[in-house]
Amino acid sequence: MKAIMYHYVRDFAPDLPNFRFLNITNFRKQLDMFARDFGFVTRAEWHDYVRSGRMPADPGKVVLTFDDAMSCHYTHVFPELVARGLWGIFYVPTGPYTGEGLLNVHRIHLLCGAHDGEALWHRARELVTEDMIPHARRAEFRDATYAAQVNRPGVSEFKRLLNYFIDERHRRDVIDRVAQEFGTEFEPDRFYVPAAALAQMARAGMLIGAHTVSHPVMSKLAPAEQADEIAGSLGWIDQTAGPQDMRSYCHPYGGFHSFDDHTVTLLQDQGVDFSFNVEPRDIDAADIARQPHALPRFDCNLFAHGQAD
Ligand SMILES: [Zn+2]
Repeated sequence: MKAIMYHYVRDFAPDLPNFRFLNITNFRKQLDMFARDFGFVTRAEWHDYVRSGRMPADPGKVVLTFDDAMSCHYTHVFPELVARGLWGIFYVPTGPYTGEGLLNVHRIHLLCGAHDGEALWHRARELVTEDMIPHARRAEFRDATYAAQVNRPGVSEFKRLLNYFIDERHRRDVIDRVAQEFGTEFEPDRFYVPAAALAQMARAGMLIGAHTVSHPVMSKLAPAEQADEIAGSLGWIDQTAGPQDMRSYCHPYGGFHSFDDHTVTLLQDQGVDFSFNVEPRDIDAADIARQPHALPRFDCNLFAHGQAD
């Protein structure tokens, strides 16, 4: 089986000229292609795999996953899946629903969508001083900085600095300072799927999974902080989306560097049935027993029609 990961699926917005998203037209084309070339894993088949390790009779089929609960998942993706008789797994960071506002990861997306990457990176480098970088990361940070200066820095450097290197305690302040100076305002109420819509999607056969509270790089956090992120998001999902037949989680950012052994132990302790990572390979019969909390998943851009606009 192949699990496919999507983020933004939407139309072009003139106020975000550099925003990276999958156009809804290309999303439809990609679904057409998956239907033709691979087929889709049914919810019952996936349940069977999670519970017993049994693969579908046709092992090459596709599972669809959508990260971060952006409003386009309700307005664009959900109707498209319903119209096709498909289901998907939607991973929700719950902080925006409990008072955290727009999450840092999404503030960064909006800044990069609205402004020139090099200008953002230049200003962020001025604002982030060495003491805002945890000691263990400083050497890594200097290397990256040096490489970036040679290679005309931009969006990836800006994201790396404010997602990975900077200490969580300074992150929101620096991002908001940049946003203020560049004239970007954040509107969390319009950005995410409404809470009531998540329950509606669950009733219509979608699986709603946890994606932490604040979408941090979990491997940067102490075990107790990780526990709050995992238990907090699972609890909110249970309450809001209602009881579901599978308990699922997805690692923020993904990749084996983004979580650690504590994360996996916490997921086991919380009775999570399966978790998705980002690793571009097929899911095989052994994965659910061998590494249920790091199931592999492809970015949609690795398949036809999946490239961002
Ligand atoms: Zn995410």
